[in-house]
Amino acid sequence: MNRAGQHILISGKPSTALPLLEEALRIGAPHATITRSPDLDEALARIDAERYDLFFVDAAHTNGGFRDLMARIRHQGVEAPGVVVTGVDSDVAGAALVREGAQDYLVRGRFEPALISRTIRHLTECRCLASAVALSEDRFKRLLDSITDYAYSVIIQNGKVVSSWHGPGCAAVTGYTTEEYAADPYLWFRMVHEADRPAVLEMSSQIIAGRTPPPLEHRIIHRDGGIRWIKNTAVPQCDRDGNVVAYDGLVSEITARKQAEQKVRHAAHYDGLTDLPNRELLCDRIRQALVRALRHGRALAVMVLDLDRFKNINETLGHTVGNQLIRAVSERLVRCVREDDTVARPGGDEFIILFADLAGEQDASFVARKIQESLLKGFQIAGQEFFLTTSIGISLFPAHGADEDTLIKNADAAMYRAKAEGRNNFQFYAPAMHADAHKKLFLEHNLRKALDREEFTIHYQPLIDLVTGRTTGAEALVRWQHPELGLLFPMEFIPLAEETGLIIPLGEWILQKACMQARQWRESDFPPLRISVNLSMRQFTHNAITDTVLRAINMAQIHPGLLELELTESMVMNNAESTIASLRELKSIGVHLSLDDFGTGYSSLSRLKDLPLSTLKLDQSFVNAITRDRSNAAISRAIIALSHNLDLRVTAEGVETTDQLEFLRGLGCDEVQGYLFSRPLPAADMTAFMQNHVR
Ligand code: C2E
Ligand code: MG
Ligand code: MG
Repeated sequence: MNRAGQHILISGKPSTALPLLEEALRIGAPHATITRSPDLDEALARIDAERYDLFFVDAAHTNGGFRDLMARIRHQGVEAPGVVVTGVDSDVAGAALVREGAQDYLVRGRFEPALISRTIRHLTECRCLASAVALSEDRFKRLLDSITDYAYSVIIQNGKVVSSWHGPGCAAVTGYTTEEYAADPYLWFRMVHEADRPAVLEMSSQIIAGRTPPPLEHRIIHRDGGIRWIKNTAVPQCDRDGNVVAYDGLVSEITARKQAEQKVRHAAHYDGLTDLPNRELLCDRIRQALVRALRHGRALAVMVLDLDRFKNINETLGHTVGNQLIRAVSERLVRCVREDDTVARPGGDEFIILFADLAGEQDASFVARKIQESLLKGFQIAGQEFFLTTSIGISLFPAHGADEDTLIKNADAAMYRAKAEGRNNFQFYAPAMHADAHKKLFLEHNLRKALDREEFTIHYQPLIDLVTGRTTGAEALVRWQHPELGLLFPMEFIPLAEETGLIIPLGEWILQKACMQARQWRESDFPPLRISVNLSMRQFTHNAITDTVLRAINMAQIHPGLLELELTESMVMNNAESTIASLRELKSIGVHLSLDDFGTGYSSLSRLKDLPLSTLKLDQSFVNAITRDRSNAAISRAIIALSHNLDLRVTAEGVETTDQLEFLRGLGCDEVQGYLFSRPLPAADMTAFMQNHVR
């Protein structure tokens, strides 16, 4: 405020000493504008309406009601300092007037201009200071209000917390109010998550020692019982001697950010479908477990599990059912192991389990058996019951490897051995198993040349009509006469041929060879013999399958009705338009179509009715089960009756005993195939077989 140009009001009767005051003012404050008001009410109205920097009131003028007058003035919101003019020359009386609301007092008759000038200067400075404080208080208040985060302040004496203040923002973050914090000095610390208390204590001790710690991110328990993450930033406040007397802090809630971070971290280490650890996290756990096992002289095991024939389920019922099943299996696996073991899903239908602490091999066998039994209990999914088996490979530390890669690789090799042993079993790793893997590479290399070198040959297995007892057909089954390894069976190279695409030229060669053979037999005087040829998935989805078949028929010049193509459920059950179109096209050229290995997949008979099939081949495992568990007789009878209803012939594969034969006959089965009659035979032996059986 500039003292030049001040507005000053003097209120009082002109008869009193006020003219003298005015005089002194003109000398002491030469630039001021002075207004006189003889009437108290008018003075009040002026004070209210105009902005004065200072006003003088004659005490005599107020008739002893000075206190009330000041109260009225202040009540009107007037902040200008007021000076009372009194006739009593006493410090005590003056002090009483100041207590009643005046900023200062002057004694009548003692209006020296120098005193007046000093009084005015003093009052003006006070006023500036007061308004500056008010301004900064106001700004501070607005600042605090604008912080929606939560601010707090802690008072310290002799290194101990004596009280604390938590700003209104605390309620949103913690659920407790400022008042509740004020009433309970330990409330704050009790709220800190137990696991984070040491870090919070460390932060406070740093502050009490006068250091500013880095912001701490920690958890608190909200009043609602839930966990919240906060970022806690605090700075110490020291007195002039450098003693910490308080610290001020700011808290911001970061729960959402923490959750997002956790999600990202979780996704990097866990499988999205089952929420089981992925391969990376598993490897990490194996590494940790190895350190412990080494220190305590204990064993650990890595178990690789692969669900048997799971591809069938995915292909016939779709991935939704497949995924549900994978999830159900994962839950069951977790229930079979202890808490400190790890069930991981690296992908597909494979699981890997780490047993972190084992006494030895027997423990691993025990759990492997437990897992097999638990999966056998059946899964209810989408209104259907599934029975799963699994092939398990196990490697042990220290016997089979000392690092995670070797242990997993060796358990994997053992798992492949379990598959080769007919699935649904478990195998411990043995060094010879890697020879199997080498064999695969070796075969793949040889397979490419085998076709040109004419190393493949076809064996034929008779199909016997159950009513007439006659041989009515033969299934063509390919063999590979390997120059070093001897005779190889299809399971050893067909999957490899599929993988490499070699199945396309190999499959065409088989078709042509089988058709030529059919022509030769037709030219002998045997009754017509239908030749069945297996098609693989890759051949079937290859777009030129009908052309390939027609080419073989034309080359051999046989009637298409002599040829039957064997398809599997996974090839025909996906219901795709293109599949049905291919089947109809094949049917339209006059060849027969049969569904091989029925009973291993999950297709229902009702879905068969739209397909142009002529034969259903019951899988040998199914045939086997029929006689082992005769209570299945009703189901088997129903399948056969339904097939007949759909105009399908039923052929039973893998008939090995007369028991099975008679049982199948009783069920009304049409045709059988199996070692009971003959193994697959080279063409010449098949001719001999027919000479003995057909006529
Ligand atoms: P598949 O079509 O189900 O063939 C029947 C298999 O059961 C043959 O095995 C046969 O030797 C065997 N078998 C027949 N009777 C009995 C029996 O009484 N007991 C037992 N235990 N087994 C019996 P193989 O020849 O090893 O063929 C296996 C599979 O390889 C075939 O199963 C078929 O899926 C596939 N395959 C065979 N030849 C070809 C081919 O030329 N092309 C394609 N794509 N796949 C083929
Ligand atoms: Mg077959
Ligand atoms: Mg079969």
